[in-house]
Amino acid sequence: MIAIHCTQSCLYENEGQCTLTHVTSVTNSTNNICAYYKEKNKPERKPLKQ
Ligand code: SF4
Repeated sequence: MIAIHCTQSCLYENEGQCTLTHVTSVTNSTNNICAYYKEKNKPERKPLKQ
């Protein structure tokens, strides 16, 4: 098993390790974030109540 170290605030990151098994490359040439990056703790948008 290959351990991929990652410090992104990504859904697949757990204690500095990537838990996604099919990742082959961490970096992405356009934004330097993994192509599989998925935002963690994304706040849900709730409609504003007046
Ligand atoms: S999917 Fe990419 S950004 Fe997310 S934890 Fe794995 S290596 Fe990091």
